[in-house]
Amino acid sequence: MKSLCIIAALLALAWPALSEAAQATAERLYVIECGARMAPDVAPWTPGVNVGKPIDFVDTCYVIKHGTGWMVWDTGLPDAIFAAPAADPSAWRRNKTLAGELDRIGIKPVDVKFLAVSHTHPDHVGNVELFPQAMLLVQQAEYDWPNQDGSPRFKPSHPVTKLQGDHDVFSDGSVMILSTPGHTPGHQSLLVRLPQTGAVLLSGDAVHLKDNWDAKRVPAINVDKEKSSASMQHMAEVMAQNNAQLWINHDKPQGETMKHPPDYYQ
Ligand SMILES: [Zn+2]
Repeated sequence: MKSLCIIAALLALAWPALSEAAQATAERLYVIECGARMAPDVAPWTPGVNVGKPIDFVDTCYVIKHGTGWMVWDTGLPDAIFAAPAADPSAWRRNKTLAGELDRIGIKPVDVKFLAVSHTHPDHVGNVELFPQAMLLVQQAEYDWPNQDGSPRFKPSHPVTKLQGDHDVFSDGSVMILSTPGHTPGHQSLLVRLPQTGAVLLSGDAVHLKDNWDAKRVPAINVDKEKSSASMQHMAEVMAQNNAQLWINHDKPQGETMKHPPDYYQ
């Protein structure tokens, strides 16, 4: 009888440990400013709302440290813009470079194992070739979507894993790519689990502004409005299931509240 009690006590101790083990986490998440701009009219992003009003956007890159390697999510505007800014005040500018921020974190581009972009618009793929050795994780639908001039979205020589939907990056559930098409054919978002911060959903451009998310407003810039709407619904479900925060790539007020390198989220 006594031994049974001991076994029961041991099991009770073991169960929390088992459930923690099932909920693997990444170690760190860095939030990096990868561009900024003032758009003269917010209406393309908020159809029928605030027409004619200017808006400030940021552009964000994220670096994730996992026990088995580093990952970069979105690469922002090309670093070259930092040295040669455009004369147009509404054009994207860069106040710092991604290469410089990696240096601040203490890693080199060659240390990056996995590279993924939410989609292939220029403000997200500007520095993909800073990481020529990193395994690119991209939806097949995005990879196969040609540029307007017919050229490919990525250098054909870049190592790539073409995805057909959701993907478990480190095979332990800590970092999950979610297929969220609509803004582009193969748009994706990223769910990151952290030990202290908890779960965070990195939006990509499935949503650009917190106000749009709250109003479930779909911007005019879409390849498929129905899919964009369905993806937002799916993201809301994933957030509810995982008690996740939503970090919106281009939302400046939110970006200004965030820690930046050398600080990070755990
Ligand atoms: Zn964007």
